[in-house]
Amino acid sequence: MPLQQEIIHKTDLHSAHNYHPLPLVLSRGKGIWVWDVDGNKYLDCLSAYSAVNQGHCHPKIISALTEQAGKLTLTSRAFHNDQMGDFLEKLCAMAEMEMALPMNTGAEAVETAIKAVRKWGYEVKGVPDNQAEIIFFEGNFHGRTVTTVSASSEEDYKHHFGPFTPGFRIVPYGDAAALEAAITDNTVAIIMEPIQGEAGINVPPEGYLAATRKICRDNDVLMVMDEIQTGLGRTGKLFCYQHEDHAKPDMLIVGKALSGGAYPVSAVISSREILRVFTPGIHGSTYGGNPLGAAVGLAALEVIEEEKLADRSRLLGDYLMRKLEAIPTNKVADIRGKGLFIGIELHKEVGLARPYCEALMDRGILCKETHDYVIRLAPPLVIEMEQIDWLAEQIAEVLQDE
Ligand code: PLP
Repeated sequence: MPLQQEIIHKTDLHSAHNYHPLPLVLSRGKGIWVWDVDGNKYLDCLSAYSAVNQGHCHPKIISALTEQAGKLTLTSRAFHNDQMGDFLEKLCAMAEMEMALPMNTGAEAVETAIKAVRKWGYEVKGVPDNQAEIIFFEGNFHGRTVTTVSASSEEDYKHHFGPFTPGFRIVPYGDAAALEAAITDNTVAIIMEPIQGEAGINVPPEGYLAATRKICRDNDVLMVMDEIQTGLGRTGKLFCYQHEDHAKPDMLIVGKALSGGAYPVSAVISSREILRVFTPGIHGSTYGGNPLGAAVGLAALEVIEEEKLADRSRLLGDYLMRKLEAIPTNKVADIRGKGLFIGIELHKEVGLARPYCEALMDRGILCKETHDYVIRLAPPLVIEMEQIDWLAEQIAEVLQDE
């Protein structure tokens, strides 16, 4: 049996089938490239769902990882460590906020944000105990824990996982009037993505984020932005909300590229006024804020800044978008996105996006369908212009009319 098939067979036998990966087995990555176990090379256009914005195995991040791994990896928060302060200082400076709470995965950081805004609601806003409401948006994706899927509008994510966490309302995405109408005296926060990634790179109308900001301020409701996928340069700004003026949220949630793919690191970032609701003993995580993750996180942030990854994403994303728009094809219903975060939506009659992703794989490009009809393009932000040219050519050949 060929090596890849053998590995896939073994994996399928012992791993729960909660994913439907493309049929290849990767064993090495460098920058925008990954290699399978047979030595075939691919351009990674998924970047581990935007966790590898800095490129695979970025030397600065890997050297922070290996150096720190030889010194001290985990203390728990029962003791201070010498890495967490520097990491959070940098994170807060870049986010232009005062305080952060480090966690590990994205879903865990979203859970942390939910706890923070509920506690703020009871202790600062004065909402009656156990009555707090949080507004989420149709099509959202905030993770796979019971509480984050409780806020989902996607039946597949919820089926037979109930009973669910109460206290959530879901309103249409992109509709400021619907949001305003859903707010009650007990609404403590809204939690939103500035572009809905998993929903298929769903970009809201211009002005929506600023309108949402105003509605939240006027109603004493916290605006929480989940930038786990869109943040840290992916959309052509450090944070996606910065595409609009007057849209700065009260709280940011980041993860994924916060470690450049080297280690799970996430965080909730906000003001002292809000995060002071967390007092000793009421929330925590054994690994959250560990010195290894903190050293990696600091290096990952420095790379984003030093290599101007947000600017690269904006320039190269615009360039790629223009090339994609010029492809002569009737298969495409819509091309949308910001920076190097682009969705190509196929007409339903054309069929599913999956076979097109497989055809791209055969040409040395890895991307994954998002929902059924969208091909998501999110290469590492260190990609060069000539590589974009080649990528666009391959996509054109796969999408061109027969
Ligand atoms: N929030 C958003 C917007 C995401 O895109 C994701 C992951 O795709 C998550 C939360 C969950 O992050 P994790 O998979 O690290 O739990």
